[in-house]
Amino acid sequence: MDTDKGIHFKEHLSVKLLKAVLFGACVLGIGLSLVQIFLDAHQSSQAIDRKATEMLAMINEPASRAVYRQDVGMGQEVLNGLMAMESVQVAAIRLDGAPELAMVERPVFASRYRLLSDYIFDPIRIYRQELYGQAPDKKYLGELILSIDTAHEGKALIQRSVVVFFAGITRAVAMALLLYLIYSALLTKPLQRLIRHLSSINPQEPGQQQLPMPKGNENNELGLWVKTANRLLASIDHHHKLRQKAEARIMRLSQYDYLTRLPNRRTIQNQINKLIKQATRKNENMALLCLGLDDFKSLNAQVNFNAAEHVLVKISDRLRNYLGNRAFLGRLGEDQFAIILTQIDQPYEAAEMAQTLIKQLDQPFEINDEQLTISATVGVTLFPDDGENVDTLLQQAEFAMIMAKSRSRNRYQFYVATIDTEIRQHKKLEMDLHKALSHNELSLVFQPQFNYQQGKLIGAEALLRWHHPQKGLISPDTFIPMAEHSLDIIPIGDWVLENACQQLHQWHLEGHRDLRMAVNLSAIQLQDQGIVERIATLLGKYQIPPGALELEVTETSIIEDIDTSKIQLENIKNTGVTLALDDFGTGYSSLGYLKQFPFDKIKIDKSFVEGLPDNKGNVGIVEAIVQIGKSFGLKVLAEGVETIEQETFLTSTGCQEGQGYYYGKPLSPNDFIAHLASQAPTTGKPSHLDSPNSGDNNV
Ligand code: C2E
Ligand code: CA
Ligand code: CA
Repeated sequence: MDTDKGIHFKEHLSVKLLKAVLFGACVLGIGLSLVQIFLDAHQSSQAIDRKATEMLAMINEPASRAVYRQDVGMGQEVLNGLMAMESVQVAAIRLDGAPELAMVERPVFASRYRLLSDYIFDPIRIYRQELYGQAPDKKYLGELILSIDTAHEGKALIQRSVVVFFAGITRAVAMALLLYLIYSALLTKPLQRLIRHLSSINPQEPGQQQLPMPKGNENNELGLWVKTANRLLASIDHHHKLRQKAEARIMRLSQYDYLTRLPNRRTIQNQINKLIKQATRKNENMALLCLGLDDFKSLNAQVNFNAAEHVLVKISDRLRNYLGNRAFLGRLGEDQFAIILTQIDQPYEAAEMAQTLIKQLDQPFEINDEQLTISATVGVTLFPDDGENVDTLLQQAEFAMIMAKSRSRNRYQFYVATIDTEIRQHKKLEMDLHKALSHNELSLVFQPQFNYQQGKLIGAEALLRWHHPQKGLISPDTFIPMAEHSLDIIPIGDWVLENACQQLHQWHLEGHRDLRMAVNLSAIQLQDQGIVERIATLLGKYQIPPGALELEVTETSIIEDIDTSKIQLENIKNTGVTLALDDFGTGYSSLGYLKQFPFDKIKIDKSFVEGLPDNKGNVGIVEAIVQIGKSFGLKVLAEGVETIEQETFLTSTGCQEGQGYYYGKPLSPNDFIAHLASQAPTTGKPSHLDSPNSGDNNV
């Protein structure tokens, strides 16, 4: 900012004023002086004439007498008297028709003002007066001649004019100076003070300092200017602060996730970039962990949006609290977090961290008085082994996480170079699966289900098998998610339903009239509008009695879209099938929503049957599930029963049915009938060890 020091003296407002006033006053002063001088000159000129006329009049009488008497002496005396006047240069009395009677003369007045005064008045002015005799005849006698030297009057005039002129100029200058002083005292000085104050104001905090009010100017324009400027400064300050706040907020928003307050994807990328540089410089290793929540979409559908957000916040807090300064944590996207581990010596450190993070989420979260458990899967990529730039590292960590999820959840997986091949193989398999149905590569196997009260096998669960021409048997855990992803599950599922129904019909025809068939229904099939109609058609086509066909749906498949699922399940149930809730306990089961659906049975997931009755945790869970079943009037079937101890425990809790290798592995239709026949219907105990087909006959 320019201060008054920065202003050149000539540019000062008061100097500018001084110049203007000086010029104006001088022009005016000179003009007025000239007018005055002109008037003076005019009056002086008249005065010369008047004096000359007076002189002539004064000597008229004596001169006439001298002429009349022709008295030279007297004439000379009269004229000598005139010479007392210094302006008289020549005076003569001339007789009529004769030479002068008398004459006086003096040299022309040598004045240095002559040049100018001659110009104003003429050098010499000549006056004549005729002389007459006495009355009555009044005869003409001669004339009186007077020559006046104007230089005397001229000198006086010029001297006066000089005084007038300079007095005028001096007055003008004095006036201008006075104005300058007043102006600078009233305006320039206060303005300079204000400028000094203005320039000392901190532009970052313009409201901190107010401009001082110049004394005595409170109510004039200057005072108004100061008040307005102060108001403006305060308002600038206010807006400045608002802008600073907004900028800080924008900065925060652009770098941090609004919900969890964790660094967002962009900030994570920047951080990785920074750490890559640091690690390269120090020759260190680093690991990037991508933690993805399992089934977060289902959770979203199950609880309301706010609760799901609440879960995310709690998860972030837990991870943040655990990690502290150990690692950098950020939120990559909806249900994905990134963790950067620096200075690692061995990959197992990253593995240990991944494992601990997964464990951190074991403890349920309490949301709205409900206990929610959410597991996570972690993909790990290593710097510099797996990639050397941000994008590659992030992409690979996410890939690794997705790959890990597609196999089984709640675990971690490292990104290795072969993962690309794996992904390509995955894609190829997806294409092969598309053709599997038309190439007759699919088949069904049937796993026996045992009823504890009746002490016999009462049915089977149809399980799908894919015999790949090159790769051999492929697990449904691998290809079912692929089929769901590509929507091939619709035709494949239809095929399964048709074949299972056909098989059941066949068994009924063969005399096994009590057998039931359980068929798995995928989430995609459940949402399919045509499914109800197709089930009804199959029931009619294969004359399946009510209750003989059981459809299994998983918790996760119904909570993807609770409303549609409810309507669909009601309609499916109305066709005359029974409904079983598969893998119970692995999702987000809550008593509340169990009541809303028309289930007939719950299937305890095999992970809870494992280790019974020694595993105390599972003992509690299974007892609780059986209890829930009882209180809702639902049958309970335990999956994955492999030992007699498990069976003993299950029957003691009141569980009605069992399924597992203890009763038979999934078998081909013929093996199943053979296995059925081998069972002793009255002993109440399965004799799987007796059965020739109950071994590892997993077709
Ligand atoms: P699931 O419905 O829970 O089926 C039970 C799975 O547990 C079967 O695996 C079965 O072989 C296995 N299993 C049965 N008894 C035991 C046991 O005592 N111990 C152990 N360790 N495992 C036992 P599978 O056949 O590999 O099927 C895996 C999953 O694939 C099924 O789980 C089901 O979700 C899905 N799946 C199979 N067939 C179909 C189908 O036709 N349609 C649909 N949508 N899904 C299917
Ligand atoms: Ca099942
Ligand atoms: Ca199951």
